[in-house]
Amino acid sequence: MEYRELGRTGEKVSTIGMGTWRFGTYRSQNERAEQLKALRSGVELGINLIDTAEIYASGRSEETVGEAVNEIRDKVFIATKVAPGHLHHDDVIRACAASLKRLGTNYIDLYQVHWPDSSVPIKETMGAMEELVKHGSVRYIGVSNFSVRQTEEARQALSTDEIVSNQVEYSLANRYVESEILPYCEREKLTLVAYSPLDRGHIAKSLPEGLLTKYRMTSAQAMLNWVTRNEHVVAIPKASNLSHIEENAESVRTRFKPDEYELISKG
Ligand code: NAP
Repeated sequence: MEYRELGRTGEKVSTIGMGTWRFGTYRSQNERAEQLKALRSGVELGINLIDTAEIYASGRSEETVGEAVNEIRDKVFIATKVAPGHLHHDDVIRACAASLKRLGTNYIDLYQVHWPDSSVPIKETMGAMEELVKHGSVRYIGVSNFSVRQTEEARQALSTDEIVSNQVEYSLANRYVESEILPYCEREKLTLVAYSPLDRGHIAKSLPEGLLTKYRMTSAQAMLNWVTRNEHVVAIPKASNLSHIEENAESVRTRFKPDEYELISKG
């Protein structure tokens, strides 16, 4: 597994993390066991970044993550998110306490504002986030779905801490972040956490066969390798299927050459 520095924190997170949207939703005990196994196997394969949110499966995603890692808490970097309806000061503090309880831990590694909400002053939200850091409940502060302007405002609203990451959609199929958000993250040394990096399971069908054969990669692996070709990007594919986790963990074992990335971009 390849690891990258989160923002300027000195903290290393795996280039390929694990997303957990819909984890905690299952039709059978078998499916539940599979989700726990997928997460634990991912960690065994070197993945340390696990992303969840208070709103995923109404909190059950956080519970599943908590259960999966309760004996290996020190090996994982848990990123979760406060919901947009909880951005007033007291709501942030309460939401964090509830997430900690569901996760079964006394600290969150990366606490992200899930979506911006212009009806709440960002200074109020960020003030609460800094209190959580001071208290030891949160280690680092991040945002999600923030534009460059909103990220700047959030950074200016902080007095002692920094915004270390912005989680946004990025995949071969959705490259809008390349115009402003990615160059900004590069310049300011923020990590871009790419969500839906496999285009929500719509695996590309027309990637150059020659390259896939040369590097013995599947199309899904090439998509993850491509989306993380910039050193400021990490990706959080969601995989509940164990063989997908294994495939994803192997996706950055080698790197394409710059002209080959260009070919994939066109593919
Ligand atoms: P995604 O990761 O792009 O795609 C997930 C789909 O791809 C699932 O159906 C999964 O199937 C399949 N898959 C995984 N690995 C595969 C492989 N190697 N080969 C073929 N198919 C594969 O989409 P996503 O779930 O939307 O995004 C990932 C994570 O980003 C979420 O879980 C969540 O943590 C985060 N997210 C954040 C936001 C936000 O607003 N911040 C929004 C959306 C998502 P199986 O499950 O069957 O393995």
